[in-house]
Amino acid sequence: MAVTRVPFIAGNWKMNLDHLQAVAFVQKLHWALKDAKHLDGSVEVGLFPPFTDLRTVQTLIDADKIPFALGAQDLSTKDAGAYTGEVSGAFLAKLNCAYVLIGHSERREYHAETDQVISEKVQAALRNGLVPVICVGETSEDLEKFGASAVPVGQLEIALEGVPADADIVVAYEPVWAIGSGQAATPEQAQEVCAKLREVIADKLGQDAAQRTRVLYGGSVKSSNIASFMREPDVDGALVGGASLVVDEFAAIIRFQKHVGV
Ligand code: PEP
Repeated sequence: MAVTRVPFIAGNWKMNLDHLQAVAFVQKLHWALKDAKHLDGSVEVGLFPPFTDLRTVQTLIDADKIPFALGAQDLSTKDAGAYTGEVSGAFLAKLNCAYVLIGHSERREYHAETDQVISEKVQAALRNGLVPVICVGETSEDLEKFGASAVPVGQLEIALEGVPADADIVVAYEPVWAIGSGQAATPEQAQEVCAKLREVIADKLGQDAAQRTRVLYGGSVKSSNIASFMREPDVDGALVGGASLVVDEFAAIIRFQKHVGV
């Protein structure tokens, strides 16, 4: 029987919006979506603010019963100890974080995170009851040399080492050349790689996991192109950077059903 995967629209704020700006943003976004489908559970909305905003956003979400899931942008491979500047998955779980981004290309590039470190972070997330959103994607050089799927497939294979078959995970295909460039992949390119990533999940974790796991596309997603991605059978949502910082634009992405046919 076919499994229905609830579309997931995740906003990665990166290092933007301080905790005061976050309050205004979340309230405005909630207001902009008052009558939207996400309120009936047909779309899941995730917010990934900076660490310093998490407590504020969590308090707001809990107090006003706002149906947004909370996620962090990173976590430590360790759960506690003498690791100055690191943030434990255990602490994130206590803040009601449901998700954590792992392996974003900016972490790979600017913090030299290797596939091995990313695999350890996936384990740290699962150990602490967090759903890892595992980001994979090729650079433009990779694309030229190896085509679109070889690098993301290899990255995901390593990230899934030791992950149990029943683990709750999300995978995000983010071609590095599409992030923040305004040049999104085509829906066909996204579909091709997302389908290959689903095959990796099937190989590593089995068919059930492949059918229930959401595979997102990320890279210059906007309200004008979201529907074209969401029409693809193996694209179950989007990881959105820049456009997640503009209330009306992010709200329009979340309301993507309205753009079908546009
Ligand atoms: C991202 O950083 O994950 C991302 C997809 O950014 P943008 O939407 O700005 O391309």
